[in-house]
Amino acid sequence: MQFSQILGKSEVKRQLIQQVQKDRIPHAQLFLAREGYGGLALALAFATYLMCEQKTETDSCGQCGQCLKTNKFIHPDIHFSFPVVKQGEKKREITTSDDYLPEWREILSQNPFMGLNEWMQQMDSDSQPNINVKECNDIIHKLNMMSYESDYKVLIMWLPEYLDKEGNRLLKLIEEPTDNTFIILVAENQNLVLKTILSRCQLIKVPKFENKEVSQYIIEKLELPISKAEQIANLADGNINLAMSIATDEAPDFSDLLISWLRIAYKSDPLEINKWISTVDGMTKNDQKNFLEYGLHFFNQFVFWMYTKSEEVNLTDKEKEIAGNMTKIINVTKAEAISAILDEAIVNLHRNANLKILLFADTLTIGDIVRGK
Ligand SMILES: [Zn+2]
Repeated sequence: MQFSQILGKSEVKRQLIQQVQKDRIPHAQLFLAREGYGGLALALAFATYLMCEQKTETDSCGQCGQCLKTNKFIHPDIHFSFPVVKQGEKKREITTSDDYLPEWREILSQNPFMGLNEWMQQMDSDSQPNINVKECNDIIHKLNMMSYESDYKVLIMWLPEYLDKEGNRLLKLIEEPTDNTFIILVAENQNLVLKTILSRCQLIKVPKFENKEVSQYIIEKLELPISKAEQIANLADGNINLAMSIATDEAPDFSDLLISWLRIAYKSDPLEINKWISTVDGMTKNDQKNFLEYGLHFFNQFVFWMYTKSEEVNLTDKEKEIAGNMTKIINVTKAEAISAILDEAIVNLHRNANLKILLFADTLTIGDIVRGK
């Protein structure tokens, strides 16, 4: 991956290139980028640039021996760590990222802007993924060894949100890494990263893609007409991965489920609530998360629209109609309160809260908010 393959983001790229040129690379950095904003792609481009033997002022060369290996994700001094699940007959506690490297390389070559959903499909699993103790121990071992081909060693860890307490094993490494060893964590949600790790990393905030960059990307990838691409880019709100899903029609429509939730919350009949919850309970864990994220997106856009009445709002025509009807009972204050609940629900679901209990309580709270109590 080269910087030139990632559209825009000139400020972050400049910052990363400066680090290498001035030989002032922080030992541990956390790239914070929501899904589809290109955090992982930037980490890959940065590692490539660092390793490249003929780098220019603005990018890696793409042709030297180091670049050829980094671009195939097979450079022996670039180590990867990411959430995985049990593999075949192998026990979960001894399964690590290394076991999934073929799948990892394949998906990176196809979609370096992927989200967890695409990665779970690639692993063909719906179990809860994580980064386990053995993985942490392996990382310590790998980074303590000599480098093979380059002067540097790099660890790219994607989604450190999936490190549980065992992540504390990595603290010493993050604080006092061996010489010329650089750790890059790529996270989507800093609230879910262990505080002990977060406080030891230099934070690089990766902005979303601009709409024109998203449309340019999907036009190049999918050869869509410009008007269609612009419409999709508007909905995707800076998330290239989401834009690709919408364009290839793989993004489920959660709007009806959201409306039925609000209706049921308003009535707060326990039997109806339980029936609705059983529908959500039957969905995959990823879709449950995506549904809550969808609800959060909807209400954030709703609030934006109520404040500005702007046509720039990232809602489909169907959603605009829903939002229009909703203004009769939900004002800005109520919508912001619902957003806050959804935001917290996403965190709790990630922490493996019991879905049924979580949704039951949240439904009652949302009912109270909507009825204005
Ligand atoms: Zn090169």
